[in-house]
Amino acid sequence: MRKRNLRVLKWLGILPAIAVCTHCNREFRVPLDALKRVADAQANLKSQFAAHECKQDEAFSSLG
Ligand SMILES: [Zn+2]
Repeated sequence: MRKRNLRVLKWLGILPAIAVCTHCNREFRVPLDALKRVADAQANLKSQFAAHECKQDEAFSSLG
């Protein structure tokens, strides 16, 4: 199984706001409450990332 990584797509200043899984392209958004501190935003993204299961749809897997 390939490694998956979390990549931030959109920053609000120094805060990561939207990130994706590099493996399945699943998008994670930081809720507004967590968009006040960098540590909260990062922790939120990391916990969403850790909790998700990569799903490869047919379009994605046919590329490989
Ligand atoms: Zn994934």
